[in-house]
Amino acid sequence: MRAAIERVEARIEAACRRAGRKREEVTLVAVSKTFPVETVAQAYAAGLRIFGENRPQELKNKVLALPDDIEWHFIGHLQTNKIKYVAGKAQLIHSVDSMHLAQALSDYAVSKQLTETILVQVNVSEEISKHGFEPDEAPERFLEIAALPGLQVKGLMGMAPFSDDEARVRSAFRKLRTIQNAIVQQVPQADSSALSMGMSGDFEIAIEEGSTIIRVGTALFGSRGR
Ligand SMILES: *Cc1c(COP(=O)(O)O)cnc(C)c1O
Repeated sequence: MRAAIERVEARIEAACRRAGRKREEVTLVAVSKTFPVETVAQAYAAGLRIFGENRPQELKNKVLALPDDIEWHFIGHLQTNKIKYVAGKAQLIHSVDSMHLAQALSDYAVSKQLTETILVQVNVSEEISKHGFEPDEAPERFLEIAALPGLQVKGLMGMAPFSDDEARVRSAFRKLRTIQNAIVQQVPQADSSALSMGMSGDFEIAIEEGSTIIRVGTALFGSRGR
């Protein structure tokens, strides 16, 4: 575990150096989905404090079983009937991918008197199978979501296509950055500063393209069964 963390850390540092960025500008989310509580406990013992999950019930179980000073992020598609397992437990929900979900999260947060911090997911991959708002509608939807009570919107999340073609991957990350720029142009006071982009296979490219949050599973924990 420690060796894998060190390898990932070295890759992050090298990418930051190449991009002329500071290491502190990039937050590492350790994607622990499908791995048992014991594995997360080992990563915690090795110093990691931010973990990402993509299934509501699994998140809920891990929150109950693991130390309180862990920061949990929810990174998967969220159905509105599962909001109760996630809201108030995840410090950041990366994957708000529809107005229906945003409205339901807002209603829930208001009813529980909490503020849920979220990112707006955009489908920059040009793959119809992926979730998220279409790039051309994303700035407008972002601003609508930012106006909903109970939500604090921090930025955008996107996934590159699953591809060895570095140019395609880079162009997807650039597109997310372009959308961020469009939002800043339209409404300078809106907070869209967080860019969640980059996974095990492509986080160096994402860092070079301005990512502030990378979501890394396989490179830390090995490959997943499912
Ligand atoms: C599983 C997952 C990751 C981590 O992927 P790896 O390739 O294992 O690093 C990142 N983001 C999302 C949204 C995921 O579902």
